[in-house]
Amino acid sequence: MDRIKIQELKVFAHHGVFDFEKEKGQNFFVNATLFLPLQKAGRTDALEETVNYAAVCDDIVNEMQGKNYDLIEAAAEAVCVCLLNKYPRLQQVDLEIRKPEAPLDADFSSVSVYISRKRHRTYIAFGANLGDPLAQISAAKEAINADGSCKILRSSEIIKTTPYGGVEQDDFYNGVWETETYLEPEELLDFLHRVEQTQGRVRDVVWGPRTLDLDILLFDRLVYESERLFIPHRDMKNRDFVLEPLASLTPDLCHPVTGQTIIEMLGEVKERHICK
Ligand code: ADP
Ligand code: MG
Repeated sequence: MDRIKIQELKVFAHHGVFDFEKEKGQNFFVNATLFLPLQKAGRTDALEETVNYAAVCDDIVNEMQGKNYDLIEAAAEAVCVCLLNKYPRLQQVDLEIRKPEAPLDADFSSVSVYISRKRHRTYIAFGANLGDPLAQISAAKEAINADGSCKILRSSEIIKTTPYGGVEQDDFYNGVWETETYLEPEELLDFLHRVEQTQGRVRDVVWGPRTLDLDILLFDRLVYESERLFIPHRDMKNRDFVLEPLASLTPDLCHPVTGQTIIEMLGEVKERHICK
């Protein structure tokens, strides 16, 4: 993809684990690569069709000077999140922060961190049937939006459904959110688990009652498997209470493994229920 590069932007700031670093400050150098399509700007010669790198330099300086971090990792994260949130055209930001005056007892020219953050489109299923389900769902939505790295773009309607899996319990409230996130899959799972916990989630009975369940259904067109995470979600094909709200948001989206659209998957699961 096309990109804009900002090199060796000098910023005087106060990051470091030592008190004297926070008091005295030092020079940092920032290298940023902004990934965005530039063809339209190239053809029209119009500033509105690109990202203004002078403004981006100001944003980097403001973000670097706005808060004093112990770690340049934290400063880099904050800069990437700020740029991705502010400039919707940016698909990805690669950022290096160099700290040539780091207080090290060694002969070195510079130490730096380099991170890369990217926009991802995900679909997250939510479900609740304990406590005050609607209040928990709404609190979870707020908690997700309050985190700079994840935003709910669209919500399906919330549907009331009878439980699945044979455990005797109250009806569920279910739905799906379309979200954009800069988190990678495992980080997103950890984040969603933290949000579940803020709503009092305890994992005891499998398929049992829960104050809040958040599942990652789809993550871009990724197919991913680890000990604790499967993407696309393994059970979505069997769950009409997931496919129905998902289809209301994105009926023609294709499952990255089977190629079936969501509306086709919903049709199949409904047919299976009728045949049972
Ligand atoms: P449920 O299957 O009803 O959602 P849990 O919420 O208790 O049950 O999830 C059990 C485990 O499933 C989680 O701890 C998580 O590690 C794992 N898991 C695997 N794939 C996913 C996914 N796509 N989204 C959320 N959790 C997942
Ligand atoms: Mg779950």
